[in-house]
Amino acid sequence: MNFDLTPEQRAFQQEIERFAREIVAPRAAAIDKSGEFPSDVMHAAAGHGLLGVTIPAAWGGAGRDYVSYALAIEAIAKASATVAVSLSVTNSLVAEVIAYAGREPQRERWLRRLASGDAIGAFALSEPEAGTDAANQQTAAVRTADGYRIRGRKVWVANAEEAAVAIVFASTRPGLRGQGVTAFLVPMNTPGITRTARADSLGVRGLGCMDLDLDVTVGDAAVLGHVDQGFRLAMWALQGGRVAIAAQALGIGEAALDEAIAHAKQRQQFGQPIANYEAIQWMLADMATDLAAARLLTLKAAAAKDRQEKSTVEASMAKLAASEAAHKAADKAMQVLASAGYRRGSVVERLFRDVRATEIYQGTSEAQRLIIAKELVNW
Ligand SMILES: Cc1cc2nc3c(=O)[nH]c(=O)nc-3n(C[C@H](O)[C@H](O)[C@H](O)COP(=O)(O)OP(=O)(O)OC[C@H]3O[C@@H](n4cnc5c(N)ncnc54)[C@H](O)[C@@H]3O)c2cc1C
Repeated sequence: MNFDLTPEQRAFQQEIERFAREIVAPRAAAIDKSGEFPSDVMHAAAGHGLLGVTIPAAWGGAGRDYVSYALAIEAIAKASATVAVSLSVTNSLVAEVIAYAGREPQRERWLRRLASGDAIGAFALSEPEAGTDAANQQTAAVRTADGYRIRGRKVWVANAEEAAVAIVFASTRPGLRGQGVTAFLVPMNTPGITRTARADSLGVRGLGCMDLDLDVTVGDAAVLGHVDQGFRLAMWALQGGRVAIAAQALGIGEAALDEAIAHAKQRQQFGQPIANYEAIQWMLADMATDLAAARLLTLKAAAAKDRQEKSTVEASMAKLAASEAAHKAADKAMQVLASAGYRRGSVVERLFRDVRATEIYQGTSEAQRLIIAKELVNW
């Protein structure tokens, strides 16, 4: 068993850590405060191949492996959770899906633009009545002479504020749930897409989350993959996406650990640094251990993706473990910093808010447990 990164993976990790430190971190507080989509940072990220990390070079991507992608998302999340999740949506939930299931004209039209940062992607699956029960799609795509009329409502569509293209899921065979859902590749300037409420969220602010009202007509060329097979495609996308969210959670957790260590060494109470107290040391040790265990699961899931193995359970375990480890780390960091962390505007306060979403999006922790248990029980 080899736990070492290759020289290429290590060099890429170092390049992205530097980019995160120098370009992303200085913008993190302002992104959080304003809630504005960080277009400037996303464009800068494209310069490092971060918008098409695993997309083959022939289509304008960086052509890297999934382990490298996970390392990059982790490094970015350590600086800004918002930028990390925005990148993961464009990569895992849009570009990778087009590369995997798109027809040649769809790849030609979108992959270069996505990888260069010229176009941002969005993934519109969730609906008011289709959250964890994502197969319960009420958005309907009804056949027309030469395409489909798609009508319905999507909620919490990350990147939607700036996105040039969205993968929209809709029911093509009402009543058949996951057996009758089709994915459509829809340019966001298509007449009939109305961006409605902008989510005012607790954390990962600046993610450009919008609700979408849809009444759009698209041609057959908009179908992504096969008709009625869209739900399977969504689940394929989420497998990669969950590895990225695990990596995002790790980055947030590590940032919390760094803040806690720095504070514990510097803050004096009763005439000595609080890092001298076992109560504080145990919190730091638990944070580091939980995050290290979750990192192994995350890299294992990323490596399984690289071997093109079915990795549904690995991805769910990674997301579950990393998001819960990071949540605990942010909570303990808050305890170590106490009032200094509780102050609005402190880094730990932002991490504490940001981390919570990792247990919700791309499937809640309960949904991940259901997926893992289903495999165990084999029903
Ligand atoms: C910041 C953010 C960004 C998002 N971005 C996107 C995006 O880009 N695209 C997109 O399509 N969606 C997006 N989402 C939506 C997200 O995927 C959903 O919020 C998530 O799937 C959970 O759905 P829900 O919020 O409707 O919760 P619900 O499904 O209503 O769940 C409520 C509670 O019930 C539990 N529950 C539900 N069913 C079961 C069950 N069978 N057994 C046990 N417990 C259960 C859940 O775990 C949860 O605790 C985003 C959400 C957030 C917060």
